[in-house]
Amino acid sequence: MLHIKGRVLVGPDTGELADDIAGDIRDELWVVDGRITFERPAGARDVRLIEGWVLPGLVDAHCHVGLDAHGAVDEPTSEKQALTDRDAGALLLRDAGSPADTRWIDEREDLPRIIRAGRHIARTKRYIRNYAHEIEPEDLVAYVAAEARRGDGWVKLVGDWIDRETGDLGACWPRGAVEAAIAEAHRLGARVTAHCFAEESLAPLVEAGIDCIEHATGLTEETIPLFAERGVAIVPTLVNIATFPRLALGGEAKFPRWADHMRRLHARRYETVRAAYDAGIPIYTGTDAGGGLAHGLVGQEVAELVKAGIPARDALSAATWGARAWLGRPGLTEGASADLVVYDTDPREDVRVLTTPRRVVLRGRVVG
Ligand SMILES: [Zn+2]
Repeated sequence: MLHIKGRVLVGPDTGELADDIAGDIRDELWVVDGRITFERPAGARDVRLIEGWVLPGLVDAHCHVGLDAHGAVDEPTSEKQALTDRDAGALLLRDAGSPADTRWIDEREDLPRIIRAGRHIARTKRYIRNYAHEIEPEDLVAYVAAEARRGDGWVKLVGDWIDRETGDLGACWPRGAVEAAIAEAHRLGARVTAHCFAEESLAPLVEAGIDCIEHATGLTEETIPLFAERGVAIVPTLVNIATFPRLALGGEAKFPRWADHMRRLHARRYETVRAAYDAGIPIYTGTDAGGGLAHGLVGQEVAELVKAGIPARDALSAATWGARAWLGRPGLTEGASADLVVYDTDPREDVRVLTTPRRVVLRGRVVG
Protein backbone atom coordinates (compact mmCIF):
# COMPACT_ATOMS: atom_id res chain seq x y z
CA MET A 1 0.00 0.00 0.00
CA LEU A 2 1.16 3.51 -0.75
CA HIS A 3 0.36 6.69 1.10
CA ILE A 4 1.10 9.75 -1.00
CA LYS A 5 1.22 13.02 0.82
CA GLY A 6 1.91 16.61 -0.05
CA ARG A 7 -0.05 18.51 -2.67
CA VAL A 8 -2.08 16.29 -4.93
CA LEU A 9 -3.05 18.28 -8.00
CA VAL A 10 -6.21 16.50 -9.08
CA GLY A 11 -7.30 19.26 -11.43
CA PRO A 12 -6.34 22.68 -12.71
CA ASP A 13 -6.35 25.01 -9.71
CA THR A 14 -8.32 27.96 -11.02
CA GLY A 15 -7.61 30.00 -7.92
CA GLU A 16 -11.19 31.20 -8.09
CA LEU A 17 -12.59 28.76 -5.60
CA ALA A 18 -11.31 27.49 -2.30
CA ASP A 19 -9.42 24.24 -2.73
CA ASP A 20 -11.96 22.18 -0.84
CA ILE A 21 -14.83 23.49 -2.98
CA ALA A 22 -13.05 23.18 -6.31
CA GLY A 23 -11.71 19.80 -5.27
CA ASP A 24 -8.67 20.36 -7.39
CA ILE A 25 -6.03 20.06 -4.69
CA ARG A 26 -5.91 17.38 -2.05
CA ASP A 27 -3.38 16.80 0.70
CA GLU A 28 -3.04 13.06 0.35
CA LEU A 29 -4.18 9.89 -1.29
CA TRP A 30 -3.69 6.15 -0.81
CA VAL A 31 -3.09 3.42 -3.28
CA VAL A 32 -4.81 0.14 -2.45
CA ASP A 33 -4.69 -2.80 -4.88
CA GLY A 34 -3.37 -0.49 -7.55
CA ARG A 35 -6.22 2.00 -7.22
CA ILE A 36 -6.52 5.51 -5.86
CA THR A 37 -8.56 6.26 -2.78
CA PHE A 38 -8.87 9.51 -0.92
CA GLU A 39 -10.24 7.74 2.15
CA ARG A 40 -7.76 6.52 4.70
CA PRO A 41 -7.94 2.73 4.58
CA ALA A 42 -8.76 1.08 7.89
CA GLY A 43 -5.96 -0.89 9.49
CA ALA A 44 -3.39 0.24 6.97
CA ARG A 45 -0.15 -1.77 7.28
CA ASP A 46 3.12 -1.89 5.39
CA VAL A 47 2.43 1.55 4.06
CA ARG A 48 5.11 3.17 1.98
CA LEU A 49 5.06 6.95 2.26
CA ILE A 50 5.91 9.16 -0.71
CA GLU A 51 5.86 12.92 -0.36
CA GLY A 52 5.81 15.68 -2.92
CA TRP A 53 3.76 17.37 -5.61
CA VAL A 54 1.52 14.91 -7.39
CA LEU A 55 0.17 14.99 -10.95
CA PRO A 56 -1.76 12.41 -12.95
CA GLY A 57 0.55 10.37 -15.22
CA LEU A 58 1.62 12.65 -18.05
CA VAL A 59 0.17 12.27 -21.54
CA ASP A 60 2.30 12.23 -24.66
CA ALA A 61 -0.46 12.64 -27.21
CA HIS A 62 1.84 12.26 -30.22
CA CYS A 63 4.31 9.47 -29.78
CA HIS A 64 5.36 6.51 -31.91
CA VAL A 65 6.25 3.25 -30.22
CA GLY A 66 7.72 0.57 -32.46
CA LEU A 67 9.12 3.05 -34.95
CA ASP A 68 12.49 4.62 -35.66
CA ALA A 69 13.88 6.71 -38.50
CA HIS A 70 13.85 3.67 -40.83
CA GLY A 71 10.49 2.09 -40.03
CA ALA A 72 9.29 -0.65 -37.71
CA VAL A 73 11.63 -1.80 -34.94
CA ASP A 74 11.81 -5.06 -32.97
CA GLU A 75 10.19 -5.72 -29.59
CA PRO A 76 13.26 -5.04 -27.40
CA THR A 77 13.63 -1.61 -29.06
CA SER A 78 9.92 -0.86 -28.63
CA GLU A 79 10.18 -1.90 -25.00
CA LYS A 80 13.09 0.47 -24.46
CA GLN A 81 11.12 3.33 -26.05
CA ALA A 82 8.12 2.67 -23.80
CA LEU A 83 10.34 2.46 -20.70
CA THR A 84 11.99 5.77 -21.57
CA ASP A 85 8.57 7.43 -21.82
CA ARG A 86 7.48 5.84 -18.56
CA ASP A 87 10.56 6.99 -16.67
CA ALA A 88 9.90 10.53 -17.90
CA GLY A 89 6.43 10.29 -16.33
CA ALA A 90 4.54 9.75 -19.61
CA LEU A 91 2.13 7.00 -18.54
CA LEU A 92 -0.47 7.49 -21.27
CA LEU A 93 0.68 7.61 -24.88
CA ARG A 94 -1.42 8.30 -27.92
CA ASP A 95 0.49 6.48 -30.61
CA ALA A 96 0.12 8.62 -33.73
CA GLY A 97 0.90 5.82 -36.16
CA SER A 98 3.18 2.82 -36.09
CA PRO A 99 3.94 0.07 -38.62
CA ALA A 100 4.81 -2.32 -35.75
CA ASP A 101 2.29 -4.45 -33.89
CA THR A 102 2.75 -3.29 -30.29
CA ARG A 103 -0.35 -4.98 -28.89
CA TRP A 104 1.87 -7.11 -26.60
CA ILE A 105 2.63 -3.95 -24.59
CA ASP A 106 -0.97 -4.01 -23.30
CA GLU A 107 -0.13 -7.21 -21.39
CA ARG A 108 2.78 -5.59 -19.58
CA GLU A 109 1.94 -4.05 -16.21
CA ASP A 110 5.25 -2.18 -16.17
CA LEU A 111 4.77 -0.33 -19.47
CA PRO A 112 2.71 2.80 -20.19
CA ARG A 113 -0.81 2.61 -21.55
CA ILE A 114 -1.08 3.18 -25.30
CA ILE A 115 -3.97 4.52 -27.35
CA ARG A 116 -3.16 3.52 -30.92
CA ALA A 117 -4.03 5.17 -34.21
CA GLY A 118 -3.09 2.09 -36.24
CA ARG A 119 -0.64 2.69 -39.06
CA HIS A 120 -0.23 6.04 -40.83
CA ILE A 121 -2.22 6.40 -44.04
CA ALA A 122 -0.39 8.46 -46.67
CA ARG A 123 -0.58 9.22 -50.36
CA THR A 124 1.75 7.18 -52.58
CA LYS A 125 5.38 8.32 -52.19
CA ARG A 126 4.25 11.24 -50.08
CA TYR A 127 5.69 10.30 -46.69
CA ILE A 128 8.74 8.85 -44.96
CA ARG A 129 9.59 5.48 -46.47
CA ASN A 130 8.47 2.33 -44.58
CA TYR A 131 6.11 4.20 -42.27
CA ALA A 132 2.70 4.35 -43.88
CA HIS A 133 0.18 2.54 -45.99
CA GLU A 134 0.80 4.48 -49.19
CA ILE A 135 -2.42 4.59 -51.17
CA GLU A 136 -4.53 6.60 -53.61
CA PRO A 137 -7.77 8.45 -52.76
CA GLU A 138 -10.10 5.76 -54.10
CA ASP A 139 -8.81 3.37 -51.40
CA LEU A 140 -8.91 5.87 -48.54
CA VAL A 141 -12.25 4.84 -47.04
CA ALA A 142 -11.27 1.15 -46.96
CA TYR A 143 -7.90 1.83 -45.33
CA VAL A 144 -9.37 4.21 -42.79
CA ALA A 145 -11.99 1.59 -41.89
CA ALA A 146 -9.29 -1.08 -41.47
CA GLU A 147 -7.07 1.12 -39.27
CA ALA A 148 -10.09 2.29 -37.25
CA ARG A 149 -10.74 -1.37 -36.43
CA ARG A 150 -7.07 -2.05 -35.66
CA GLY A 151 -6.47 0.99 -33.46
CA ASP A 152 -7.80 2.20 -30.16
CA GLY A 153 -10.19 4.87 -31.34
CA TRP A 154 -7.97 6.96 -33.60
CA VAL A 155 -6.90 6.98 -37.24
CA LYS A 156 -3.88 8.91 -38.53
CA LEU A 157 -3.66 10.49 -41.97
CA VAL A 158 -0.78 12.32 -43.56
CA GLY A 159 -2.57 15.50 -44.61
CA ASP A 160 0.24 17.24 -46.47
CA TRP A 161 3.77 16.50 -47.56
CA ILE A 162 6.27 17.71 -50.08
CA ASP A 163 4.88 17.69 -53.61
CA ARG A 164 7.77 16.95 -55.97
CA GLU A 165 6.04 18.75 -58.83
CA THR A 166 5.69 22.11 -57.08
CA GLY A 167 8.75 21.62 -54.87
CA ASP A 168 6.72 22.77 -51.87
CA LEU A 169 4.38 21.36 -49.23
CA GLY A 170 1.07 20.32 -50.75
CA ALA A 171 -2.22 18.84 -49.56
CA CYS A 172 -2.50 15.10 -50.14
CA TRP A 173 -6.20 14.29 -50.36
CA PRO A 174 -9.16 15.54 -52.39
CA ARG A 175 -11.96 16.88 -50.21
CA GLY A 176 -14.54 14.26 -51.21
CA ALA A 177 -12.34 11.29 -50.38
CA VAL A 178 -11.31 12.63 -47.02
CA GLU A 179 -14.86 13.57 -46.08
CA ALA A 180 -16.10 10.05 -46.82
CA ALA A 181 -13.16 8.54 -44.92
CA ILE A 182 -13.73 10.67 -41.82
CA ALA A 183 -17.45 9.84 -41.86
CA GLU A 184 -16.56 6.15 -42.03
CA ALA A 185 -14.15 6.46 -39.08
CA HIS A 186 -16.80 8.24 -37.04
CA ARG A 187 -19.33 5.56 -37.91
CA LEU A 188 -16.86 3.01 -36.50
CA GLY A 189 -16.38 5.06 -33.34
CA ALA A 190 -12.90 6.33 -34.17
CA ARG A 191 -11.59 9.87 -34.27
CA VAL A 192 -9.32 11.08 -37.07
CA THR A 193 -6.19 13.17 -36.93
CA ALA A 194 -3.78 14.30 -39.62
CA HIS A 195 -0.17 15.33 -39.92
CA CYS A 196 -0.19 18.87 -41.36
CA PHE A 197 2.67 21.33 -41.71
CA ALA A 198 1.18 23.54 -44.43
CA GLU A 199 -1.50 26.23 -44.48
CA GLU A 200 -3.63 25.01 -47.38
CA SER A 201 -4.35 21.51 -46.09
CA LEU A 202 -6.09 22.70 -42.91
CA ALA A 203 -9.46 24.21 -43.86
CA PRO A 204 -10.58 21.31 -46.12
CA LEU A 205 -9.77 18.76 -43.39
CA VAL A 206 -11.60 20.73 -40.72
CA GLU A 207 -14.58 21.23 -43.01
CA ALA A 208 -14.52 17.50 -43.72
CA GLY A 209 -15.01 16.88 -39.98
CA ILE A 210 -11.53 16.01 -38.72
CA ASP A 211 -11.07 15.82 -34.94
CA CYS A 212 -7.46 16.87 -34.48
CA ILE A 213 -4.44 18.16 -36.38
CA GLU A 214 -0.85 17.20 -35.56
CA HIS A 215 1.83 19.94 -35.73
CA ALA A 216 -0.59 22.52 -37.21
CA THR A 217 2.29 24.88 -38.01
CA GLY A 218 0.28 26.32 -40.90
CA LEU A 219 -2.51 27.83 -38.77
CA THR A 220 -3.28 31.39 -39.81
CA GLU A 221 -5.73 34.15 -38.98
CA GLU A 222 -8.15 32.54 -41.44
CA THR A 223 -8.05 28.99 -40.11
CA ILE A 224 -7.70 29.65 -36.36
CA PRO A 225 -11.34 30.78 -35.96
CA LEU A 226 -12.47 27.72 -37.91
CA PHE A 227 -10.62 25.36 -35.56
CA ALA A 228 -11.94 27.20 -32.52
CA GLU A 229 -15.53 27.12 -33.77
CA ARG A 230 -15.42 23.39 -34.52
CA GLY A 231 -13.41 22.51 -31.41
CA VAL A 232 -10.70 20.82 -33.48
CA ALA A 233 -7.72 20.08 -31.23
CA ILE A 234 -4.07 20.56 -32.12
CA VAL A 235 -0.95 18.78 -30.90
CA PRO A 236 1.84 21.19 -31.84
CA THR A 237 4.88 18.95 -31.10
CA LEU A 238 7.14 21.99 -30.65
CA VAL A 239 10.14 19.81 -29.74
CA ASN A 240 9.79 18.37 -33.21
CA ILE A 241 9.16 21.69 -34.97
CA ALA A 242 12.51 22.75 -33.50
CA THR A 243 14.14 20.40 -36.05
CA PHE A 244 12.68 22.22 -39.09
CA PRO A 245 15.80 24.34 -39.76
CA ARG A 246 17.91 21.17 -39.87
CA LEU A 247 15.41 19.47 -42.21
CA ALA A 248 15.36 22.60 -44.38
CA LEU A 249 19.12 22.61 -44.63
CA GLY A 250 19.13 18.96 -45.68
CA GLY A 251 16.52 19.45 -48.42
CA GLU A 252 17.49 22.89 -49.62
CA ALA A 253 19.51 21.91 -52.69
CA LYS A 254 16.68 19.84 -54.14
CA PHE A 255 13.65 21.76 -52.88
CA PRO A 256 14.50 25.39 -52.09
CA ARG A 257 10.86 26.54 -51.97
CA TRP A 258 10.00 23.82 -49.48
CA ALA A 259 13.08 24.65 -47.37
CA ASP A 260 12.11 28.30 -47.26
CA HIS A 261 8.53 27.41 -46.33
CA MET A 262 9.70 25.15 -43.50
CA ARG A 263 11.92 27.93 -42.13
CA ARG A 264 9.04 30.40 -42.14
CA LEU A 265 6.76 27.95 -40.34
CA HIS A 266 9.50 27.39 -37.79
CA ALA A 267 10.14 31.09 -37.27
CA ARG A 268 6.50 31.78 -36.34
CA ARG A 269 5.89 28.58 -34.35
CA TYR A 270 5.48 30.19 -30.93
CA GLU A 271 3.23 32.95 -32.30
CA THR A 272 1.10 30.32 -34.04
CA VAL A 273 0.64 28.27 -30.88
CA ARG A 274 -0.06 31.33 -28.79
CA ALA A 275 -2.66 32.61 -31.26
CA ALA A 276 -4.34 29.18 -31.26
CA TYR A 277 -4.39 29.20 -27.46
CA ASP A 278 -5.82 32.73 -27.33
CA ALA A 279 -8.60 31.69 -29.71
CA GLY A 280 -9.58 28.81 -27.44
CA ILE A 281 -8.34 25.92 -29.60
CA PRO A 282 -7.75 22.83 -27.43
CA ILE A 283 -4.00 22.15 -27.28
CA TYR A 284 -2.33 18.96 -26.05
CA THR A 285 1.27 17.92 -25.56
CA GLY A 286 2.93 15.58 -28.00
CA THR A 287 6.59 15.02 -28.72
CA ASP A 288 6.60 13.03 -31.98
CA ALA A 289 9.10 10.66 -30.39
CA GLY A 290 9.98 7.61 -32.38
CA GLY A 291 10.60 9.01 -35.84
CA GLY A 292 13.67 11.16 -35.66
CA LEU A 293 13.19 12.20 -32.04
CA ALA A 294 14.10 10.52 -28.75
CA HIS A 295 11.44 9.29 -26.35
CA GLY A 296 10.92 10.82 -22.92
CA LEU A 297 10.64 14.49 -23.97
CA VAL A 298 7.14 15.22 -22.65
CA GLY A 299 8.45 17.55 -19.91
CA GLN A 300 10.42 19.51 -22.50
CA GLU A 301 7.28 19.87 -24.63
CA VAL A 302 5.34 21.36 -21.72
CA ALA A 303 8.20 23.84 -21.22
CA GLU A 304 8.00 24.70 -24.94
CA LEU A 305 4.26 25.43 -24.61
CA VAL A 306 5.08 27.80 -21.75
CA LYS A 307 7.76 29.40 -23.90
CA ALA A 308 5.12 29.94 -26.58
CA GLY A 309 3.15 31.99 -24.06
CA ILE A 310 0.68 29.47 -22.61
CA PRO A 311 0.25 29.94 -18.85
CA ALA A 312 1.86 27.13 -16.83
CA ARG A 313 -1.47 25.88 -15.50
CA ASP A 314 -2.86 25.36 -19.00
CA ALA A 315 0.40 23.92 -20.33
CA LEU A 316 0.23 21.39 -17.50
CA SER A 317 -3.39 20.66 -18.32
CA ALA A 318 -2.33 19.95 -21.90
CA ALA A 319 -0.22 17.09 -20.50
CA THR A 320 -2.48 15.97 -17.65
CA TRP A 321 -6.08 16.83 -16.72
CA GLY A 322 -7.16 18.24 -20.05
CA ALA A 323 -5.39 15.62 -22.15
CA ARG A 324 -6.81 12.75 -20.11
CA ALA A 325 -10.34 14.10 -20.37
CA TRP A 326 -9.89 14.52 -24.13
CA LEU A 327 -8.69 10.94 -24.49
CA GLY A 328 -11.41 9.61 -22.18
CA ARG A 329 -9.02 8.41 -19.47
CA PRO A 330 -9.29 9.19 -15.76
CA GLY A 331 -6.93 11.39 -13.80
CA LEU A 332 -6.56 11.34 -10.02
CA THR A 333 -10.06 10.21 -9.15
CA GLU A 334 -11.44 7.82 -6.55
CA GLY A 335 -11.14 4.25 -7.81
CA ALA A 336 -8.97 5.09 -10.83
CA SER A 337 -5.79 3.17 -11.53
CA ALA A 338 -2.94 4.82 -9.63
CA ASP A 339 -0.99 6.25 -12.56
CA LEU A 340 0.76 9.30 -11.15
CA VAL A 341 3.99 11.20 -10.90
CA VAL A 342 5.50 12.85 -7.84
CA TYR A 343 7.78 15.91 -8.01
CA ASP A 344 10.02 17.75 -5.55
CA THR A 345 8.52 21.18 -6.24
CA ASP A 346 5.29 22.75 -7.49
CA PRO A 347 5.12 22.18 -11.28
CA ARG A 348 2.75 25.15 -11.56
CA GLU A 349 5.53 27.42 -10.34
CA ASP A 350 8.07 26.04 -12.79
CA VAL A 351 7.15 23.32 -15.26
CA ARG A 352 10.80 22.42 -15.78
CA VAL A 353 10.54 20.14 -12.73
CA LEU A 354 8.59 17.76 -14.98
CA THR A 355 11.86 16.53 -16.50
CA THR A 356 13.02 15.17 -13.12
CA PRO A 357 10.24 13.18 -11.45
CA ARG A 358 10.91 12.08 -7.88
CA ARG A 359 8.71 8.99 -8.22
CA VAL A 360 6.69 7.40 -11.01
CA VAL A 361 3.76 5.19 -9.99
CA LEU A 362 2.07 3.05 -12.64
CA ARG A 363 -0.93 0.82 -11.88
CA GLY A 364 -0.11 1.38 -8.21
CA ARG A 365 3.48 0.16 -8.46
CA VAL A 366 6.46 2.42 -7.88
CA VAL A 367 8.35 1.97 -11.15
CA GLY A 368 10.74 4.87 -11.04
ZN1 LIG B 1 4.52 11.74 -35.75
